[in-house]
Amino acid sequence: MNILLLGAPGSGKGSQAEQILKENPFVQISTGDLLRNALAKKTPDGLLAGEYMRKGDLVPDELVLKILKERLREPDCENGVIFDGYPRNVAQAEMLDGILKADGKKLDLVLNIESPFEVLMARLLSRRVCSKCGKSYNMISNPPSADNICGVCGGKVIAREDDREDVIKNRLEVYTSSTKPLRDYYESRGVLFSIDGDRKIPEIYEDVKMIINRKGKN
Ligand code: AMP
Repeated sequence: MNILLLGAPGSGKGSQAEQILKENPFVQISTGDLLRNALAKKTPDGLLAGEYMRKGDLVPDELVLKILKERLREPDCENGVIFDGYPRNVAQAEMLDGILKADGKKLDLVLNIESPFEVLMARLLSRRVCSKCGKSYNMISNPPSADNICGVCGGKVIAREDDREDVIKNRLEVYTSSTKPLRDYYESRGVLFSIDGDRKIPEIYEDVKMIINRKGKN
């Protein structure tokens, strides 16, 4: 099954993906993570992407598509993919449809996690991530140990460079103008399910799980 997690930055897409992966044989593909890895390795694509990411702007479609296609070629994608952060606009959605179709596949489910602006802003300001394994923390609801050490891998827990108030504001604006139209795109294709994201992770996951199971039985 191929699932898209749709939702603004801070809506909890990554946390829901983590829960889904515990119970399903899928892989998660986060284009944000792929781009951050490329940037950390200082590849030419990564360095170029970094210029957009620092400001909270979208990276050009062709560049994101290139790294996404490379990732999708890997054999672990065969059992199903959770797309997190891709597509971000209608042009990318059409590209993804094309890639999947060429492989005899499709997006089976789009889970749209909705939260108010103030909730997203507060979550992103208090979000921290492990610099080694990427595990997500929140200084209010799920803090790391006192010395900011990751409980999973022992890596250093830090704030993401783009989780700064001015950059967050731009990312949320970009989401509203570019990514929200995707709701209509997927609604008209009958695959969209909207979920209240202003709740605790396990409560949201109950809904996510129910929708995935129902789809799996169809
Ligand atoms: P994320 O980790 O999903 O919040 O993404 C972090 C940043 O990576 C975004 O603010 C964009 O600059 C870039 N990015 C991630 N995914 C995409 C995408 N599908 N299209 C364009 N830019 C992206």
